[in-house]
Amino acid sequence: MITFYPGPSKVYPQVEQYLSDAYQSGILSVNHRSEPFMVMLKETIEVMKSKLDIPEAYEIYFCSSATECWEIIAQSLIATKSLHLHNGAFGEKWLEYTQKIKPKSKGFSFDKNSLPIISDIISDQEDEVICLTHNETSNGTALPFSFFTELREQTSQVIAVDATSSIAGVEFPWEAADVWYASVQKCFGLPAGLSVLIASPRAIKLAEKIGDRDFYNSFLFVRDNFLKYQTPYTPNALGIYLAGRVMRQVEPIASISKQTKKRAAEWYEFLAENGYSILIDEQEVRSDTVIAVSGSKDQVANLKKSAKENGILLGNGYGAWKETTFRIANFPAITQNEIDQLKNFLKSEANRLA
Ligand SMILES: *Cc1c(COP(=O)(O)O)cnc(C)c1O
Repeated sequence: MITFYPGPSKVYPQVEQYLSDAYQSGILSVNHRSEPFMVMLKETIEVMKSKLDIPEAYEIYFCSSATECWEIIAQSLIATKSLHLHNGAFGEKWLEYTQKIKPKSKGFSFDKNSLPIISDIISDQEDEVICLTHNETSNGTALPFSFFTELREQTSQVIAVDATSSIAGVEFPWEAADVWYASVQKCFGLPAGLSVLIASPRAIKLAEKIGDRDFYNSFLFVRDNFLKYQTPYTPNALGIYLAGRVMRQVEPIASISKQTKKRAAEWYEFLAENGYSILIDEQEVRSDTVIAVSGSKDQVANLKKSAKENGILLGNGYGAWKETTFRIANFPAITQNEIDQLKNFLKSEANRLA
């Protein structure tokens, strides 16, 4: 079965060998405060920073999921309230989770075919953290690169970005925001159970000012451990090992990003040419990594069923678009050959129905 599911998604085929190497190497049985583990963690962080072109002054911590990152940010980086811009299910969930911990946090919804207005975002200087979802996996929208750089020019507030379904798939202006995070079962092409939290000096300073150390995953406690190449709790050593191996294997992000964007442009062109309707009309806010295609409930159900019979797994719709869209992951681990197979299938379905 070829999978285009946008998470968990296709893992790099090399992972099979890396799993066996991990076992053979003995790393899975060592204590996480021992030298071999610390060396492995350090090397993984270094190769990830280098391949993703993350600024030297930014720090990387591994946690368990993007959802955990929501919790860490709410506990440790927001003293009283944050502002959440959202146009879909994941942005909304982030707001809801945060409000359970910091009830004064507020949301601002914007249309899925438009960008949020920067003057609205920065109007309340009391918002300690501006929370943005780079890639809204539920509806296939994304904020363009230029949006982050423009926002950064106009505010010195801490900006946190959920880039769960785009980090390792496209390039980012890292310095235009302070916290970036992703879980690895999307663009990293890795099995689930690990997330990457990237923090700027400004984010670290804010965490220090707030001083939260009340939880096992408090930002400062996590950071203290990572500065020693350790972790607060017994970590997912296999996940970290696999992340290091895959990062060593992949091309630098500039080259991956170029390929992702080229493939995305080809996808959008192909879909339009073959009579498929793309959920998002406005080209500027279409995602490069998750493509949402809309149709009637019956059309979508039949297409997914027929795809499955042809050995292809399409992504279900999500949230409000659960039954009236299907999603196509455009993640780096998917090969051109697999994309061509899906295109052939979609073309023949379009001809059959025409
Ligand atoms: C998948 C996803 C999440 C949740 O990731 P988990 O690893 O399940 O916690 C959060 N935000 C976005 C944008 C996602 O795509």
